[in-house]
Amino acid sequence: MTLDLRALIRDVPDFPKPGVGFKDITPILASPQAFQETVDLLVAAAPDDIDVVCGMEARGFIFGAPVALALGASFVPVRKSGKLPRDTVETTYDLEYGTQTLAVHSDAIDEGDRVLIVDDVLATGGTVAATADLVRRLGGALVAVDVVMELAFLEPRALLARHGIDVVHTLV
Ligand code: 5GP
Repeated sequence: MTLDLRALIRDVPDFPKPGVGFKDITPILASPQAFQETVDLLVAAAPDDIDVVCGMEARGFIFGAPVALALGASFVPVRKSGKLPRDTVETTYDLEYGTQTLAVHSDAIDEGDRVLIVDDVLATGGTVAATADLVRRLGGALVAVDVVMELAFLEPRALLARHGIDVVHTLV
């Protein structure tokens, strides 16, 4: 099968609110072949010797976990505040309206671990930048970011560059 990811990502107008166009990735998940090929491409884009894959709630879990298994790396869920049961480090960042706090278990990453961040959609880059902050506070070395789709018109790479994140791979 030739993977046509663009055809498998649907534009949903006015979701979650009027004026916003949402990229729905669930058609990828509906096809085992497309899902497998997408994971394979994310794995192929990953640098060598990754120790930890971080995936952000919630769709980062879907792609990050199989990438971690394929790489033989740990999977670390990055969750919204209040969801993780043990001691956490947290960071708060700006959304279009309001703020969001992300958390990770304090012992999830060891000093010097090589970390890959995986998510479905890179929009403004704020979620990846916040996750990078958590990774670094735990002593991890963020080596790359792999995402399925980048919304380039929102210029996430400019924000990521300001946070010292230069290795970003996007499939679409
Ligand atoms: P950012 O922080 O880069 O602005 O937003 C990216 C985060 O919000 C990702 O975790 C992603 O799952 C979610 N997100 C933002 N916009 C979209 C979208 O259009 N489609 C999907 N599937 N997720 C989105």
